[in-house]
Amino acid sequence: MSRLDSFIRRLTAQKILLEDVTARLKGVEGPVLELGLGNGRTYDHIREILPDREIYVFDRDLACHPSCIPDAEHMIFGEIRDTLAYCGPRIKAPAAFIHCDLGSGDPTMDLATSSWLSPLIDKHTAAGGYVLSGLPLELPNFETLPKPEGIRPGRYHLYRKQ
Ligand code: SAM
Repeated sequence: MSRLDSFIRRLTAQKILLEDVTARLKGVEGPVLELGLGNGRTYDHIREILPDREIYVFDRDLACHPSCIPDAEHMIFGEIRDTLAYCGPRIKAPAAFIHCDLGSGDPTMDLATSSWLSPLIDKHTAAGGYVLSGLPLELPNFETLPKPEGIRPGRYHLYRKQ
């Protein structure tokens, strides 16, 4: 598969899954955490499909399209290992949904990221809340959910906290 095909499949999977989670979120209270602003594409889509949710966005850099810059209160700069650990007083409530788009493409780096990220995700997700991640996470308090049709195995991971 060409890199172009792979890129198209990744973005298509993101859109399908973000919309799938949105449909499941009714009745689950709390903000949304977007881990990895990047270009701002998924942030922009999440704010469009979840207009009534507070969305907190985490990244070490600001490199997004100018139309996708979150306001200062909702943009949390720095290493996510630090900022997610200490964002509690700012965010106040556990998250109804955490979207993680932090894959580096390097398998060793990605394993290390999953290892420190998993307990932080657990800590900040509300009971009944959802996590969608490009990296597999170690989440013993969550169930792994089947993905909608058309998403290739291993491409994305969907979890719900029990
Ligand atoms: N979801 C974005 C989009 O749709 O445009 C793409 C996100 S991009 C793949 C990953 C982003 O995560 C990068 O902007 C990078 O700076 C950020 N990132 C990766 N690891 C991080 C870490 N440990 N702490 C803070 N930011 C991190």
